[in-house]
Amino acid sequence: MAVKEVNAEGQPTVNSNGVPLFKSKLTKHEEEVDNEVVYEFGGPAGALGMMVGFPCLMYYFWICLEYHQGHLITPTSYTKDGIIQFLSEEILAKIALGAYPSLTAVKIYMGFVAYTFLCAYFMPGPIVNGLPLPSLKGGRLPYLCNALSSWYLTLALSVVLHVTGIFRLTSIIENFGGIMTTAIIWGFTMSFLVYTNSIIRGTQHRMSGKLIYDFFMGAPLNPRIGPVDLKMWAECRVPWPVLFFTSVSCALKQYELRGYVSGPVAFMVLAHFLYTNACQKGEECIPTSFDMFYEKDGFMLIFWNMAGVPFTYGYSSIYLMKYELTTGETISHSWGYTIAIYAILLAAYYVFDTGNSQKNRFRMEQNGSFIDRKAFPQLPWGRIKNPTYVKTQNGNLLLTSGWWGIVRKPHYTADLFQSLSWGLICGFGSFLPYFYFCFFVCVLTHRVSRDMERCSKKYGKDWEEYCRRVPYIFIPYVF
Ligand code: NDP
Repeated sequence: MAVKEVNAEGQPTVNSNGVPLFKSKLTKHEEEVDNEVVYEFGGPAGALGMMVGFPCLMYYFWICLEYHQGHLITPTSYTKDGIIQFLSEEILAKIALGAYPSLTAVKIYMGFVAYTFLCAYFMPGPIVNGLPLPSLKGGRLPYLCNALSSWYLTLALSVVLHVTGIFRLTSIIENFGGIMTTAIIWGFTMSFLVYTNSIIRGTQHRMSGKLIYDFFMGAPLNPRIGPVDLKMWAECRVPWPVLFFTSVSCALKQYELRGYVSGPVAFMVLAHFLYTNACQKGEECIPTSFDMFYEKDGFMLIFWNMAGVPFTYGYSSIYLMKYELTTGETISHSWGYTIAIYAILLAAYYVFDTGNSQKNRFRMEQNGSFIDRKAFPQLPWGRIKNPTYVKTQNGNLLLTSGWWGIVRKPHYTADLFQSLSWGLICGFGSFLPYFYFCFFVCVLTHRVSRDMERCSKKYGKDWEEYCRRVPYIFIPYVF
């Protein structure tokens, strides 16, 4: 379809799908919203609590999985000096025993981090522009989107390394504790490096003046090394592939021990493949996302991507594996139950994939950065023809068709169902496979409230109109 509308300079104002193109100038109000410091996560005290609490929680859960078949241990089992004995004997001694960052663990984790960075630097891929940034007076940053070619290379290399015995993928689960410790140390180190580098170079943005809080939220908005955007690299390239390969490692270990891969373990490989693959194939949608546009590169994003996601979201796979190793029994369910959980996963994945795709492609069309990529799997309804929307005063469009006409966060709802299915496939013997789901409910509800507050400030009356047109957030007629 030919582009019909043009502006005074003869430039098109509407693309071939009927989506108006973004105006290039940002308003003063948008700059103010972007610069405004809002204390999130309980301010400096909350930030400190999370920086100390995250690693402690990770070790605690790891011990429960590694030594107690996923049962949550408490100091009450110690009669004398309960808490002291609990900490010294249960926690510290076991960390020293099973989670020491051995040379093998460091090589595996840091080798992978370095490899993904090199891929991000050198592999081919299209360049996509981000949204106009208030901090750059409306300027846009180019993003080299080579996650897909890197991902395919990684999959091929992993097969070669495993089959030839150069690096057996089972080493990941065998060194899991040490790898996790390496990731935790790296999460702190990288946060420190990015923060200090930004202060030295004077690239800090939206600072509160409270050191702990600023370290947690980050100093720079878009730190880069050459063509590599550190935020996008950390968000896409490290956490999800590590999660996927951990599950593959568990499946291969089970195969080595038993000669088969059970339904639940295969489920987790599929679930983690779908999620990881979705992030890689949809990488070109990330530059227009909230994280790239607004969130700074601080401890919260860096630690969570480098250590949190890969070592807490995968408890289901670890639980299935450790249960089998310690009890000698494989967790399995009836055919009916297994098929039902597979169905939940696939249905939720469909909505998650197409929901993200509908909004991001719509936004990319408006941004003039849309590219039609054909990565596997291409699902029907990923791009809406002639979409409807609310046009806001600043020129931005809020989509109101597709899944986005039903609720305001269809991709969150679907994502939550996916995470629930990851727990359900493990049965009901431990809380840990459900940790991700419970944690994710908190993350997404908090994220929604932050986002709604920001959008309401940014769009004012237009946001109210949008909320009137799409009144429900997660589930129609419920919430
Ligand atoms: P969204 O994709 O919801 O992005 C929010 C931004 O999108 C808003 O700030 C607004 O930006 C814009 N927006 C909101 N509504 C509309 C609309 N109707 N039409 C057009 N643009 C709109 O959020 P996330 O980046 O949080 O989530 C992306 C995906 O990542 C989700 O599937 C989520 O589940 C997943 N996720 C996963 C996490 C994990 O740990 N597994 C963590 C966080 C997210 P603007 O200001 O530009 O208008």
